[in-house]
Amino acid sequence: MLKYRNITFIGAGSMAEAMISGLINKEGIAPNQITAANHSNIQRRIELIDKYEINAVSFDEVSLNNTDMIILAVKPKQAELVLQQLKPNLQDHHIILSVLAGISTGFMEEIITKELPVIRVMPNTSSMIGESITGISAGKYVNKDHLDLAQELSEAIGKVKVISEKHMDVFTGIAGSGPAYFYYLLEHMEEVAVEKGMDREIARDIAAQTLYGASKMVIETSNSPEELRKKVTSPNGTTAAGLLALDENGGGKAIEAAVENAAKRSKTLR
Ligand code: NAP
Repeated sequence: MLKYRNITFIGAGSMAEAMISGLINKEGIAPNQITAANHSNIQRRIELIDKYEINAVSFDEVSLNNTDMIILAVKPKQAELVLQQLKPNLQDHHIILSVLAGISTGFMEEIITKELPVIRVMPNTSSMIGESITGISAGKYVNKDHLDLAQELSEAIGKVKVISEKHMDVFTGIAGSGPAYFYYLLEHMEEVAVEKGMDREIARDIAAQTLYGASKMVIETSNSPEELRKKVTSPNGTTAAGLLALDENGGGKAIEAAVENAAKRSKTLR
């Protein structure tokens, strides 16, 4: 159970903060169970101590002796260096979680060399408000207890799906990049309303609430998106006219291409 584990974040940026905030406020983890270590930004450490009452130290000062879970939250390009530096201090009871985009469990295991559980955790930006959909996938030495802990920890920032690591790229194409596709959609809906003379703020609220309501319908009813779409589309009605324009302008194909392209790009990050 997460409640009895000490957690050390390596990296104290925005993703670490989203998780720290969720762990304390949603999962009820005591602040003194959490340590965050960064590279050089002292002001940031003071800010985290003031805001969450956690321990915050520089990477050089961090001790892993009393830690159960190590969460890597640096930039992907810093992964190798940080793991090399952590390696001499890694112990058999440590569980390593990584939120680093594009860095595989195999890559990390190869650097660590010890047979430690390594779990990839892929949140999205909605983690900032506790509404992430986070994909987690297990490395070679992960058992069910490790995975349960990783799942519990990831629930601090939203919902969680355990996925095979081979699906991490398509997960990134849907969930990692997905928020931007929806922002793009909202931008365009808003623009048309503004062109027709509507106040931008009002148009934005209308479009955003429409998206929110539609998402909730998928999540909270047992209907598929296709069934829901068919239910709101009466023959020759306004929705049918809108969907026809979407099809004629390659709407569906454009969305598929966006997911494919983002997944392809995710593969090249390693
Ligand atoms: P960030 O705000 O730039 O934070 C990076 C942190 O790493 C800083 O605290 C930095 O410390 C620290 N750091 C750099 N080098 C270090 C070192 N050698 N030792 C210890 N700490 C070091 O980045 P972020 O947005 O939180 O992203 C972190 C990771 O989350 C990335 O790998 C990204 O792929 C992943 N991720 C982010 C999102 C998202 O929505 N933001 C979504 C999915 C995955 P200093 O400030 O002192 O240099």
